[in-house]
Amino acid sequence: MASGDGLLVRVRPFLGRLTRRQALALCDGAERFGTGLIEVTNRANLQLRGVPEQHWSELLAHLAEHGLVDSDPDTERRRNMLVTPDWQAGDDTHQLATRLMARLGDLPELPGKVGFAIDAGTAPLLAGVSADFRVERSADGGLLVRADGHARGTAVTSVEEAVEGLVRLAHWFVDSGGWEAGRMRRHQALLPSWAPRQALPAACRDRPVLGQHPRGLLIGIPFGRVTAPALREVVQGALVGDVRVTPWRRLWIEGGMPDCTGGLPTDEEDPRLVVDACPGAPWCNQASVETRRLAEALASQVPGSVHVSGCRKGCARRQPAALCLTGRDGRFDLIVEGRADGVPEVTGLSEAEVLDYLKHHFPAGA
Ligand code: SF4
Repeated sequence: MASGDGLLVRVRPFLGRLTRRQALALCDGAERFGTGLIEVTNRANLQLRGVPEQHWSELLAHLAEHGLVDSDPDTERRRNMLVTPDWQAGDDTHQLATRLMARLGDLPELPGKVGFAIDAGTAPLLAGVSADFRVERSADGGLLVRADGHARGTAVTSVEEAVEGLVRLAHWFVDSGGWEAGRMRRHQALLPSWAPRQALPAACRDRPVLGQHPRGLLIGIPFGRVTAPALREVVQGALVGDVRVTPWRRLWIEGGMPDCTGGLPTDEEDPRLVVDACPGAPWCNQASVETRRLAEALASQVPGSVHVSGCRKGCARRQPAALCLTGRDGRFDLIVEGRADGVPEVTGLSEAEVLDYLKHHFPAGA
């Protein structure tokens, strides 16, 4: 898609995972055809920015050569699927995701944001991540299929039945007018009788913390952006180097070693992690301000969450932040305990004025 700095190219890793070879190819592609920046989205996708139109087909060929894209755009669009990142080969999540990928052609045309979550580990891990239809572990240890907006789902007895349930729900959504609602959560139609709300999901698991795990090193991606050289350093320095992409702007480097972090956070206390910032100018053509410089200046200066947004759309963070700065006409509006489109406490600040204001007015400012 077009963006302020050229084309933005989104890669949807298959099963949320890149092999070491694919990860390195992605880094090469980002540098050869784009700005060298790789974004990690809250849908566990990866994005390359700043690709000139004349390089688009070369980049696509490069991604196809390394198995990073589907064979056709229609399949790519339908493969809107989140997979719990700690799946193991052959487990329920792996089987479900593989079977659903094989059934993509059976899905109806769905609104662009409608997607699936395959979350069948020992307990749900993706409950806080946006998805319209889910397979989850139920409280009694079985599997259930659940439509977003409903606390309970339909118990199923096999992975085949679960995938069939997802496909049927997708058809029911479209046939019952789901395109008008756009997302399942907003869809008012009563669920069909063959999808009874009988089974409760198990209590959610805690999100894995940054650092070394038996599986590998979990690293944070501040502001959801990493440079190709930094990612390459981590991948090349790891024992295995395959990469699991999570929806929390964190990457799991399989077999990662603690001394190969590429300068990326491996500690939950890293102040860069409390700041959300969208690409801003010049990357997005709706932004009138640069966001990253201010975001970096604010990290560690403000207690609680911080959101720096290039405009009122607030792409980087939907929920309120303790402090939100929204760009408008080249300056910032300051919102306390709110979202990017909230009512500002102060308007029209330059970057320097923001920092000065916080020093004097924000309770624990610098
Ligand atoms: S919040 Fe605005 S400026 Fe930032 S990425 Fe979204 S549309 Fe662009």
